[in-house]
Amino acid sequence: MIFDNFYRKFSKDIGIDLGTANTLVYVKGKGIVINEPSVVAVNQRTKQILAIGSEAQRMVGRTPPHIVATRPLVDGVISDFEVTEQMLRYFIDKVHAQTYSFLRRPRVVIGIPSGVTEVEKRAVQDAALNAGASEAFLIEEPMAAAIGARLPVQDSQGSMIVDIGGGTAEIAVISLGGIVISKSIRVAGDEMNENIIQYARENFNLLIGVRTAEDVKIRVGSAYPLDEPMHAQMRGRDLVTGLPKEVTISDQQVREALLHSLRIIVNNIKNVVEEVPPEIISDIMTKGIILAGGGALLRNLDKLVHEATAMPITIAEDPLTCVVRGTGVVVEDLETLKDVLLPTEFSRIPR
Ligand code: ADP
Ligand code: MG
Repeated sequence: MIFDNFYRKFSKDIGIDLGTANTLVYVKGKGIVINEPSVVAVNQRTKQILAIGSEAQRMVGRTPPHIVATRPLVDGVISDFEVTEQMLRYFIDKVHAQTYSFLRRPRVVIGIPSGVTEVEKRAVQDAALNAGASEAFLIEEPMAAAIGARLPVQDSQGSMIVDIGGGTAEIAVISLGGIVISKSIRVAGDEMNENIIQYARENFNLLIGVRTAEDVKIRVGSAYPLDEPMHAQMRGRDLVTGLPKEVTISDQQVREALLHSLRIIVNNIKNVVEEVPPEIISDIMTKGIILAGGGALLRNLDKLVHEATAMPITIAEDPLTCVVRGTGVVVEDLETLKDVLLPTEFSRIPR
């Protein structure tokens, strides 16, 4: 018992946001130590992993045919179990090396999309345990995001959060430490990039890559008309001549492209608002809806969501780190916050 406390004091427990686009790691007592793309480069001939994280990201779209840079979590769930495990192990090892925690293997709190199946939960947990965690706890991402945004999740007052990531958008209403309603859809940042690729093909006869599309989205993308017009240059290959071509795209054109995804996201938010129990709707009318995840950075998304729902909208501070900061809050105080963790068959919830 005394030893247990001793070890716990020196252990570097960690919180992980295993996102479809980015993986972030928080170390107890230190803060965020890793923030890298969730990308793995694999040699298809030997099945060997060549690079993980930022290094693998640099290879995307530039690799010879036998080297494939993949995102193992592309739809918000583990689509490639082995590669995910290797990626987790790489990040956990990296933290280990940085913090010389030779005493004890870390306990790990991992954010997972809400509504994943038991099998998928097991897969994430197994991956963490195999990757060197002494214990692995799971927390639903919207819950972690809400904690990261400092919402009073254990309060009887309801909160509503929308986390728009790369592969999935999660919409959730939280009260008394639990998720009252949630919806996870597979339309988010990646789909917006696809919208721009398709727009370029149909309107400019231009073939562009994912990175160009994402770049345009971040530079001039918006969800609602801007005060000042914006333009971006977009380079690709002319589908008619096969030659390189550069075109100018306006914020209005990008908005028209993004509307395909935005309409779906906004309609789902609306549907969740309509399902909120009457006692909680009044809390949300007062406190509003909080937007988190990288998608929350899209210009004027708050205006579009406000127009559709009539609710006040707030963009979380530093929306890209909400989930990992939430897991961090839990890691700092696992005993008090155990109620917000997902019950799983194979973890001992601390007493
Ligand atoms: P995940 O949790 O799935 O890893 P993140 O919350 O890290 O996702 O968000 C990544 C997504 O946010 C990507 O699709 C990225 O293109 C998008 N994103 C990042 N910055 C911006 C921005 N300024 N405007 C619009 N989208 C953005
Ligand atoms: Mg996320």
